[in-house]
Amino acid sequence: MQATRAKFHGPTQELLGVPVSLLDMDATVSAVEQMISEGGQHLIVTADASGFVIASTDPELAEIYQGADLATPDSQGVVWALHRKGAKGVARVSGVDLFDRICRLSAERGYRLFFLGAAPGVAEQAAERIRLRHPGCNIVGTRHGYFTADDDDLVAQEVSVARPDVLFVAMGIPRQEKFIVKTLGTIGAKVAMGVGGSLDVFSGKAKRAPQFIQRLKLEWMWRLLLNPSKFSKVKMLPRFVRLVFMEGK
Ligand code: UDP
Repeated sequence: MQATRAKFHGPTQELLGVPVSLLDMDATVSAVEQMISEGGQHLIVTADASGFVIASTDPELAEIYQGADLATPDSQGVVWALHRKGAKGVARVSGVDLFDRICRLSAERGYRLFFLGAAPGVAEQAAERIRLRHPGCNIVGTRHGYFTADDDDLVAQEVSVARPDVLFVAMGIPRQEKFIVKTLGTIGAKVAMGVGGSLDVFSGKAKRAPQFIQRLKLEWMWRLLLNPSKFSKVKMLPRFVRLVFMEGK
């Protein structure tokens, strides 16, 4: 089923064809509240440098990014590119932080959340830990993300039974975004967002960098040291920089 999307409007800066949101974290959380209260269905993408690079050779992902209701600057690379284009005072709004804030919001407002993705057991473990972190957070369902595209509709029907307001999909770029666009109409959530490795982080399976490393803007290096398989992502950074320079100011 095709989702009927209600477009959210906020300040943006165009980057590689994508209108990237200039809202800071608090304003982004307010935008999410607005999306939930106004009804309709909304797609949030958290765009990092690797996402832009993948989109440059994947027209389906490029179209999804361009049509998203909110594309947040998920990485320091994207923040740098926005500054270069003249956008002032842009702050990083990472998927993992936004995920955490929406969980807090759920504890305050009762919004129904569904966690879909990561290896078997991880979403459940993340849910357990999030409930301790944000008592009252209303997680209405969890499911692992290891299934093929042939089963997308089946999984969507399974998720829809839980009637989530917000669907988080942690299956990596671009699989998670493509799954959301294909199934949002069936699932019926008001907001859906791809969150990459966030369930791994909140389950305790993966560790975020200490605050001081995040402040030094070196979280990517920390991830690489802990998990060398992430090297394929880091390798995309020079390509991202090249794309940004080719686009010009
Ligand atoms: N994953 C999944 N299904 C798959 C492939 C991956 O659920 O078929 C999960 C994986 O276990 C991990 C997440 O997707 O939890 C991808 O995390 P990553 O940090 O690689 O995401 P990205 O860097 O693309 O945001």
